[in-house]
Amino acid sequence: MQIPADPRVSWDLPAPGAMPRTADLEPLVTRVLAPNPSPMTLDGTNTYVVGAPGSGQAALVDPGPDDPAHLAAVEAALAERGARCVAVLVTHHHGDHAEAALPWGARLGAQVAAADPQVAGPGGRVLEPGQRLTLAGTTVGVVPTPGHTADHLAFRLESGAVLVGDHVLGRGTSVVTHPEGDVLAYLESLRRVHDLGPSALYCGHGPELTEDPGAVLDFYLAHRAMREEQLLAALRTGPRTVDELVAEVYAAVPREVWPAAAQSTRATLDKLLAEGRVEGRLDGPVRLA
Ligand SMILES: [Zn+2]
Repeated sequence: MQIPADPRVSWDLPAPGAMPRTADLEPLVTRVLAPNPSPMTLDGTNTYVVGAPGSGQAALVDPGPDDPAHLAAVEAALAERGARCVAVLVTHHHGDHAEAALPWGARLGAQVAAADPQVAGPGGRVLEPGQRLTLAGTTVGVVPTPGHTADHLAFRLESGAVLVGDHVLGRGTSVVTHPEGDVLAYLESLRRVHDLGPSALYCGHGPELTEDPGAVLDFYLAHRAMREEQLLAALRTGPRTVDELVAEVYAAVPREVWPAAAQSTRATLDKLLAEGRVEGRLDGPVRLA
């Protein structure tokens, strides 16, 4: 089986835990790292402060956890840019991205915008795929990227950089959640972002990917295909439960990420069941059709 090579291994990326708390990525963007590192959130959640220099305004993308130290760092970044927060954009409903959206939106006097009406809140703006938002002296394209979750959006900046939330991570690969996520939608979303020809990927977790974003998206597509092939290879030797498949296919990854691996495995089996290539049920053994 072909093991796809991750192009990032030869890139000069900061080691885990070595990302600066606050970093100016380009004139439009400052990144503020939240203090919530974990096996699933990597270095922590990245909050992005986005706005044209001199506009006196900025939008927050993925405020992250409602943590006082993180809020102080984000307010310092706004002050450093001489910017007032005019909007809070959220890529998807997971708490490590969305928890602070409503409280900080209220505190900063900024409207929350997201695809999920519950995340946007009562006074919020429900975003539609394909919209172009004019804010903070710039425009932001709303790119549908369902797969990790059903509501997932990416935001394309005028510079060509794309803020990808959990669609693509700065290190390793992302999870297609189950039952909400969708592998076919995820693959389509990877191709959609690839087709944009992004100048950089600013990820929800981990370092920004600036060297060859297209190569990372190609790797993500190849990695998903490999996981599917591994599942099929395991099933060729006999029926397996999801737990057995995870233990086999993810033997090389730390056990603490196995629950997430099980979600991606269920999501991939759902695709194979729908395609008629596998039969059985996810709560019992599955076998090749
Ligand atoms: Zn997520």
